Amino acid sequence: MDFENLLYEGKAKSVYQGESENEVIVKFRDDMTAGDGARKESMGQKGYFNSIISSKIFETLEEAGVKTQLIELVEPCVMKAQKLEMIPIEVIVRNIATGSIVRKFPFEEKAPFNPPLIQMDFKSDEFHDPTLNDAIAIALGIASKEELDEIRDLALKVNDIMSAMFKDAGIILVDFKIEFGKDADGNIVLGDEISPDSCRLWDAETLDMLDKELFRQGKDDEVIDAYEEVFNRIITDEDKAKWNL
Ligand code: 5GP
Repeated sequence: MDFENLLYEGKAKSVYQGESENEVIVKFRDDMTAGDGARKESMGQKGYFNSIISSKIFETLEEAGVKTQLIELVEPCVMKAQKLEMIPIEVIVRNIATGSIVRKFPFEEKAPFNPPLIQMDFKSDEFHDPTLNDAIAIALGIASKEELDEIRDLALKVNDIMSAMFKDAGIILVDFKIEFGKDADGNIVLGDEISPDSCRLWDAETLDMLDKELFRQGKDDEVIDAYEEVFNRIITDEDKAKWNL
């Protein structure tokens, strides 16, 4: 695999030019950050688990008709993907109130959102990801009203598919963040990753956390076991055979 032409280095992934103009190679690293990158640690095997979990989720979404950036998981930690022009919006879907929404607004901790709540944050470490509304997003030139509506529809569809998938694995999908980009034809396509780094996942029986919130709370020694638990619950023997795991 050619890791020469680095296009972009994020906090947990590096993106390289792929073999053809419209392809990229995404390398999942073990780096984990919190507080807009203020705290950074290397967590063994995180890239391995996240690349496989994310590929499994993207494949499940594709099967249900959601266009995603994934072309194939080449090997653990290495994903071949379609090149997208990313839209700088963190689309957050919440099924249960927790995290920043209860710190910023008077929602009760653990209260369900029915229908799910969709929030769009401006992706910017410099401005600390402020929450957008349509008027601000349009004025910034980030997206049109039609594109924002399409993004919301897609986000709800992703939530339905993922909630069912995790429910079957005994996991509650509490909330998650996704990002979209545009392909060469201007279609809106799901990009980035979906993993325990970007979701809140609770064990359906114990309500134990199985995601990056453990790291945010300083429980670093519990993080990788939690990610492995998610991996064990959603990755089948068939998946393991397909990916030579
Ligand atoms: P909150 O706004 O409550 O901190 O996060 C809501 C959800 O979005 C959580 O599942 C969280 O993991 C995800 N999320 C929000 N911002 C980010 C971000 O900058 N990076 C990642 N990986 N996930 C985020």
